[in-house]
Parts: sequence; structure tokens; C-alpha cells
Amino acid sequence: MTRIELERVLTLNRVWQPLTTLVLRKALVLVARGRARIVCPQTFQIFNWKQWIADRAVAADAHVIEADYIRTATMHVRIPQVITLAKFAGYPNAGVPFSRRGVYERDNGRCQYCNAVVHKRDMTLDHVVPVSRGGATSWGNCVLACGRCNHRKADRTPREAEMSLVETPQQPTREDLLLRGVHRNPAWEPFIGKAAEVTSASTLKS
Ligand SMILES: [Zn+2]
Repeated sequence: MTRIELERVLTLNRVWQPLTTLVLRKALVLVARGRARIVCPQTFQIFNWKQWIADRAVAADAHVIEADYIRTATMHVRIPQVITLAKFAGYPNAGVPFSRRGVYERDNGRCQYCNAVVHKRDMTLDHVVPVSRGGATSWGNCVLACGRCNHRKADRTPREAEMSLVETPQQPTREDLLLRGVHRNPAWEPFIGKAAEVTSASTLKS
């Protein structure tokens, strides 16, 4: 696998909300076909393919080094880190489906009672309000627990068991999902922060 298939580019919709990450090859194709433009993460300037190829981007950012470039058979092009789609302004709003693996990721692989690191194969899913009391199998009622804590808590609420949660369980945000399993490029931060603001603002309004 070459760099063009490995490196990821943060992909924003037309109004700069993050949608996904694409492999570099796909991102370059979108820009070359005029379906996306490149955003310089330092200056927030926008470049179409011609401008980018003409090295306008380099003039805009003096910190560019050779490692920021990729050579293909026909060209030598600076690797974009963020692109914005030319037309698509939508924002997939579907909730993140509940899953055991998702709980593991959301809780950062730590028992939510004792905060110990738990290996995936050793994880147990604890229902904060036990199923026997009507507790749902949901993001809001399930946490990652180590076997020991789950056993100790048994069929009780945390209060009854005199155990407290490290964090109140919540449905993970789309942003969490977006970056799951992807190496997080520091250059993406300003755009991801924006998404968090937009998301919380729209949540407040609704
Ligand atoms: Zn524990």
C-alpha cells in the first residue's frame, strides 16, 4: 500500500461540517474533477485544483516541507489535509447505532467504575439500571465494566452498590464516530471543533 492509499483527508461538506475521512487518492480525484476544493488548515484559504497545482498553496504557507508532497507518475503535488465538497451541504444526522464495540470505544477501553484498562475480550457490558428493573440496552444505560466491578455491582443500581461512574454514559457524537480508528491529524482540529460547536448549537435550538 502506498501513501496515496493510506493517508487520510478530512472531508467537509460545503459549509465546512466534517463528514468523513477519505483516502488521499479519492480526495485528489474529487478535487481534480471539480467536485471538491482544498482548504488550507493554516490559513483557511480555499484552492481549486488548478490553483493548488500551480503552487499557490505553497506561497500561502511557508511551513511546507518536501514530506508534505506526493509524487505520482505525472506530477508532484502537495498533500491536502482538508477538502470541502463543492455542492453537498447536508449533514448526515442519523444516530450512531448502539453496539458493544461502540461502548468499548466510547469508554476508551476503561472500566467505568474502577477506571482500569480492560482488554476487549475481557469487557463486560454493565446495565447501569439493571435489566431486571427495566433498564434499557442503550447508550444511556450501558457502560464498559471490568468483570470484577460487574460482579460486585450485580443486580443493583450504582447507588445501591455504592459505586460511582467515571462518566455519565451518553450516545457518542458523530464526531467520535468520524474519527474512530482513524489516526487523528492535528491539522483537522479547527474543523472538528467547529463541528462540535455547530452540533451543540443545533441541539440547544431543538
Ligand atoms: Zn472495574
